[in-house]
Amino acid sequence: MTNHNWNIYPLVLGEADVSKVLDTFWSLSREKTMVTVPILAWLLVPTFKETPILVDTGFRDANRCQDVHGLGPHRTKPEWSLHAQLKNHGLTVEEVRTVILTHLHYDHAGGCAEFPNAKFIIQRTELQAAAAPMVSKKLDFGGQALFYDRKDIADLVDPLWPQVQLIEGDHEVAPGVKCILFENTHTPGSQAVYVETEFGTAVILGDIARNVELNISQGIPPGLFYDLESTYRAMIRIKNEADIVLPCHDYEVVKKYGNGLKEGKF
Ligand SMILES: [Zn+2]
Repeated sequence: MTNHNWNIYPLVLGEADVSKVLDTFWSLSREKTMVTVPILAWLLVPTFKETPILVDTGFRDANRCQDVHGLGPHRTKPEWSLHAQLKNHGLTVEEVRTVILTHLHYDHAGGCAEFPNAKFIIQRTELQAAAAPMVSKKLDFGGQALFYDRKDIADLVDPLWPQVQLIEGDHEVAPGVKCILFENTHTPGSQAVYVETEFGTAVILGDIARNVELNISQGIPPGLFYDLESTYRAMIRIKNEADIVLPCHDYEVVKKYGNGLKEGKF
């Protein structure tokens, strides 16, 4: 059988101070502290003849996270830029041909304009929801658009539209890399990325779950979800199908997997 294993590396594209209550269902956690979390993307590097794949692109601008989205401090620095993080792996933004977007929130889809030669793989329902989110404009956070940044979404609709590849449901992007739709979990068209590795199937979550122990191991949904039952089912399915679980806002995975995956159940 052909080996379609990939290496996976977290790319730190920024960080944010957020409330820990986001980790837990209905935000009813007794934990009220603030925590500093990374904004991660993931680089998939094939061990066979194939081109690398990037999952997510970070946020556009730290000031917009506060001014437009009404959130707490977001930080960036030169070594956290997409250019610098890709350079650590010998890649340029021009060389990236495939970008999978787990969902289109401001902290995952803000860097797309940096990739002149990439196609962007997005669930159709996610772009639809992002373009016309159902939200009260009185809500004083989320940029009047449930954390979809209007500039990012406008870019995807045009001028980046020729680079957008909309998919509907599960989709094999390359041998060993699949997008799996988990509709109405964190967002209407959130997708996880299932990646074959030498340690088994790694699942890049987007924000379908935030805290692996609480959300996946214990099956307690995270604080932010679109539909509760879909989210419960996603927690159970991912626990059953994943050997390694990779969330996008947890410094523990950077510590553990900064130099690549290691063996071990999550
Ligand atoms: Zn996020």
